[in-house]
Amino acid sequence: MRKLLIAGNWKMNKGVTEAIALANSLKRELYDIETVDIVLCPPFTALDAVNEVVAESNLKLGAQDVYWETCGAFTGEVAAPMLRDLGCTYGIVGHSERRQFFHETNETVNKKTAGLLKTELTPIVCVGETLAQRETDKTFDVVSDHVKNGLAGFSREDALKIVIAYEPVWAIGTGKTATPEQAQEVHAYIRKLLAGLFSKETAASMIILYGGSVKPENTRDLMAQLDIDGALVGGASLDVRSFTDIVKIAASKET
Ligand code: PEP
Repeated sequence: MRKLLIAGNWKMNKGVTEAIALANSLKRELYDIETVDIVLCPPFTALDAVNEVVAESNLKLGAQDVYWETCGAFTGEVAAPMLRDLGCTYGIVGHSERRQFFHETNETVNKKTAGLLKTELTPIVCVGETLAQRETDKTFDVVSDHVKNGLAGFSREDALKIVIAYEPVWAIGTGKTATPEQAQEVHAYIRKLLAGLFSKETAASMIILYGGSVKPENTRDLMAQLDIDGALVGGASLDVRSFTDIVKIAASKET
């Protein structure tokens, strides 16, 4: 049985004071949720402060990016062991904004994923097609390229520690959500790919999140899909009410 996971990607939002306030409110609202893993991903600058709030709670901490080397002359970068020191247990890699604006490639996604695994942090590996790619029937090719090359060289044991987030780029921050059927179709395809890369049993245990304008209004239908195991939430994770409702709606799937 796969446990649902809801992760909030705060992106480049919230200074330390605001981040502490948001984390405190979420901790208060979500203290009794046990059936969903909840991960907050504030900017690097607020990780330490948010860790202070969520330590000893049911809320977990994740980073939005990582560098693959463990230390050295890499000005401006942050290594996985440093994130672990700050209380992180998750790290997002390959987000479409990093692919689009910061030259992230499948190769760097692969190295970052390896860096996180080596430090025993759970990578959340983002994959997904642009609107132009969907409109030219390239969705499955793009997703296959992201999954196969992003996860190249990992063992079955590694794979079980990796979370995939399917995020159609055209649905991120646009208010356009993939329909539950569109999302399920790609999630099922990803699970089949994972079965081919690792094993059927491994694929059946792996968590695949959906991301792209997830809101309380569309959470129930998305979470009802067979291969959707949770959500990576951007905009709606910045609002206490919306994120709380998304988590609680997801939690109600289990009961
Ligand atoms: C994201 O950035 O991962 C995301 C899904 O954003 P939004 O929910 O705002 O579309």
